[in-house]
Amino acid sequence: MIYELIEQKIRRPERIILTGRSHRGELLSYLQNAEPALVKKVNILWKAIKKAVTDKDIEYIRQTGSVQQGLIDAWCIVVTEWAEAALEPAWKRAIGSAGNSMFEALRRPRKAAEFNSVHSNILKWMAERGGILIRELTEGQAKTINALLRHQVFQGITSNYQLSRMLLSFIGLLQKEAIAVANYRMELISQGVTLKKTDGLVEIYARSLLKNRVKRIARTELCSAYNFGQWESLRQMRESGLVDEIEKEWLTADDERTCPVCAGLDGEKVGHDEQFSCGQMHPPAHVQCRCSLGYSALRR
Ligand SMILES: [Zn+2]
Repeated sequence: MIYELIEQKIRRPERIILTGRSHRGELLSYLQNAEPALVKKVNILWKAIKKAVTDKDIEYIRQTGSVQQGLIDAWCIVVTEWAEAALEPAWKRAIGSAGNSMFEALRRPRKAAEFNSVHSNILKWMAERGGILIRELTEGQAKTINALLRHQVFQGITSNYQLSRMLLSFIGLLQKEAIAVANYRMELISQGVTLKKTDGLVEIYARSLLKNRVKRIARTELCSAYNFGQWESLRQMRESGLVDEIEKEWLTADDERTCPVCAGLDGEKVGHDEQFSCGQMHPPAHVQCRCSLGYSALRR
């Protein structure tokens, strides 16, 4: 009887906590360390997007009032090359870091298996996410410019040089941001501010908006890759029979307690393959989201 009880106790699988409220898998410190380098790379991207605009493109834009497909295609090549050279290595590092620290947390008495950071699942994730981002950046850029060309601020420009100078200062901004900058320009002009001063003030405003967007892109991409890396590492652990019955819990970051999207998700628990009530498998739930997941599983 006693032996049976002891045996039962030995056999009973132990539920281990891999990440939780007290140790969030180092997501925030990872973001802090990796963000500055990616921010620099996103800035390089905008410069390359600007450089891809030729005199011919400007002439076409001035004559027709819209961006031609040829320019969108050229941007697509620029963004794709950038994604391969700059973004993918950053994603890979984030996924690898997240996956490795999960395997470390598993700490078995015998040597634990290692995270496979080149698993086909990871390559598939990067290809899908890259495709979405490339479309967003190229088609979004064209939409922003097309919307601007209909704005009052662009009416009556007859010189290619002037059009090019003005348009390029809006590159990298989202449509609503670009419209806000254009409105600001109109306001300054209507107040009688000199053209030179207007140019300077508008540039400062556009730059500050761009700086924030660059940061948002870097943070969102790193956060997505890190969260995916954690999720994938658990999938690999389960596949290798190391763990079972994985549970994940949504944890908001301290500064996200009041986020309308994430506040209601805090503490929600679902299985590894299940979606949270927001429809996501893991954070981020939105741009700038810094939420993370608490993972626990039965050790086999
Ligand atoms: Zn969030």
